[in-house]
Amino acid sequence: MIDAHIHLDDIRFDNNRGELIVQALEAGITHFIVPAVTCSRFEKLKNLSKQYNCIKASYGLHPYFIDQHSQQDIDLLDVWLSKNTSCAVGECGLDFFLKELDKDTQLFYFEAQIALAKKYDLPLILHARGAVDAVFTALKQADYFNAMIHSYNGSIQQTKGLLDKGIKFSFGGAICHPKAHKLHKLVQYIPSDAIMFETDAPDQNLYPNFREINSPINLIKIIERYSKLKQLDFIDSCNNALQVTRQFFKIPVHDR
Ligand SMILES: [Zn+2]
Repeated sequence: MIDAHIHLDDIRFDNNRGELIVQALEAGITHFIVPAVTCSRFEKLKNLSKQYNCIKASYGLHPYFIDQHSQQDIDLLDVWLSKNTSCAVGECGLDFFLKELDKDTQLFYFEAQIALAKKYDLPLILHARGAVDAVFTALKQADYFNAMIHSYNGSIQQTKGLLDKGIKFSFGGAICHPKAHKLHKLVQYIPSDAIMFETDAPDQNLYPNFREINSPINLIKIIERYSKLKQLDFIDSCNNALQVTRQFFKIPVHDR
């Protein structure tokens, strides 16, 4: 299994990161895709990816933190991508759910990062909260669709268009909520060859433990829930997602 989206560099893991990684590896989770959120965290993430081969770093500027980004950060990201191994560009995208985040500023950083993904021929790790249409419009304008949307929650109509362009989706703890009926229908609709799984830890803990810190090991519960929703064998679900995730982030089979 690969966790397609986890913030293992987060300070909330500083005390027990090693333990959690060992626990996850023993349970069969082989890799963690860890997207950066601000320039200030690039160095730490780089060091972690050197320390743990299972951590695959992606560098980018998250829309939540636009007040911490500056225009020079785009240049810095450009230089950083030219000098360091990055499995993707992101986490980037748009968040129209939080009203205090200026839309135009978000778009500026997002479009600049799409251009960088294009420049370095890297996939995009996208955040699209309340902004699936706007994210898709930006991708269309750049004519670049090598992308995955994490913690995806769009309509079937939106999903059709994205699937046609080969965009991938990852699902996390939200699918474990017994009342997430719309999300369950969405998961059932999307073919397995477009689906990855994530914990988004330390955020998005599983129902009903929302107040606690999410853990990498919960990836298993997420895939179990998915298997039931999709009436698939657990091992088949793991294998399908493993293939999709490896291909998307170009993680070779012998990489351990
Ligand atoms: Zn994230």
